[in-house]
Amino acid sequence: MDKEQSKGPEPKSTLLVGGGIVGLASAYALARDGGQVTVIDQGPIERRASSATAGIIGGSSVIPWASSRLWPRVPGHLLNRDGPLRVSYPWPRNLAGYVARSVLSGRSIPRQKSSAGLANLGLRGWDAWQSLLEGLPEARQMFEQNGCLFFYATPEQRRADAAGNALRRSFGMDLSELDAGEMKAILPPLACDVAGGVRVNAAGHVLDPIGLQQCLRAAVEALGGRFIAQSVAGFETVGQRVTSITTDDGASHAADAIVLCAGAGSRALAAQLGHKVQMIPAWGASVTFTNPSVQVTAPLLLQSDGIAVTPSKSGLRVSGLLQLGGGGKADAMIATLTRKVQHLFGVFSYTDMLSFTGARPLTADSLPCLGPDPHFQNVFHNFGHGHWGLTQASTSALVISDLVRDRTPRIDISSYGPDRF
Ligand SMILES: Cc1cc2nc3c(=O)[nH]c(=O)nc-3n(C[C@H](O)[C@H](O)[C@H](O)COP(=O)(O)OP(=O)(O)OC[C@H]3O[C@@H](n4cnc5c(N)ncnc54)[C@H](O)[C@@H]3O)c2cc1C
Repeated sequence: MDKEQSKGPEPKSTLLVGGGIVGLASAYALARDGGQVTVIDQGPIERRASSATAGIIGGSSVIPWASSRLWPRVPGHLLNRDGPLRVSYPWPRNLAGYVARSVLSGRSIPRQKSSAGLANLGLRGWDAWQSLLEGLPEARQMFEQNGCLFFYATPEQRRADAAGNALRRSFGMDLSELDAGEMKAILPPLACDVAGGVRVNAAGHVLDPIGLQQCLRAAVEALGGRFIAQSVAGFETVGQRVTSITTDDGASHAADAIVLCAGAGSRALAAQLGHKVQMIPAWGASVTFTNPSVQVTAPLLLQSDGIAVTPSKSGLRVSGLLQLGGGGKADAMIATLTRKVQHLFGVFSYTDMLSFTGARPLTADSLPCLGPDPHFQNVFHNFGHGHWGLTQASTSALVISDLVRDRTPRIDISSYGPDRF
């Protein structure tokens, strides 16, 4: 942190609602800045998007998920039991409004705006993590930067991603084209065809996403921060300030500043502050195979399948898929992930299988809500990071520490207002 960044009024007491990776990174940035922080989270850690994550930093993080080409393909995906997208009952309450807004966001000009907003956060992700964790070598050593490989099984898949790769390059991402032979030389023996690949050279990954969260929590506690295991029910307000937060046990928690960073749970809480955020819980899952007989050295993204294969501290992690609704039921996704990795590498052995499910907080335009609340002076938003919350959490956390300390945010945050929907 330079001198300019460390200037600002006296640190304030801050309550953060939500202790996933976004809340923890923000809590650490604030505590490191000298603030008193309290994190309220309903738990458990196993049900967070931050625990199910593939762990990639900056893999393809400038591509919005909704595009005008997505919707005609949805019926085909839904008919394929191993497709990347599924819908399950009960459906998310705001599904119709959300889809309508996504269709608008997927058109050419709004999509360019979303890409620019994603790049603004995502392309800074790796460096911002390194800067945030400067004093935490035990957390930093969970990060590796070996690039990330896009895997194309067929020439059609490669052609279908060509426009995406041109867009990535237009934002300065350094990509290398690989032919089938080069992919085979990098990867463990494959049981399926490969037509080629692309390496995102500056991408990195986190070897232990749960360990990273535990490490950040311990660091916040060491700086005097507190954690409360409760569900936030609402806000008490006086004029243009939120004076306290109420939790399900009936307790009231006061603070100078409030940060809403409750992932997929943020929509309902933001509604209480007067915002109609078009966001849904987009469930995904991960399976980690311990002591696998195959290992990869860099993350592998199979975009047409919606899955990633990542090196992990405990073995080989396969994650992804997108399920709307279903209240977090993940059996079908876990079965698909297992079949996908077997299709890729054939039958392989492992000693154990550990699975996690979590809901990505996915906004209709793929951009998070990040910045001051338009109605309440002491409330700040930091949620809705969708597919790339691990990548974006570090820059978002540094922005939150700027805002809470009354400093000018270090990046332009004008695209991330909660009232844009
Ligand atoms: C399968 C999968 C793969 C992914 N892969 C990647 C990847 O490779 N790279 C990447 O950058 N991103 C990836 N992501 C996205 C990333 O994991 C998420 O964007 C990120 O974890 C969101 O973090 P969060 O802290 O906002 O939400 P969460 O981790 O879900 O945390 C939100 C927290 O808020 C709490 N909460 C909610 N409501 C309340 C309430 N009312 N009161 C109290 N607490 C509350 C919850 O208990 C939870 O702990 C992936 C996601 C999934 C699911």
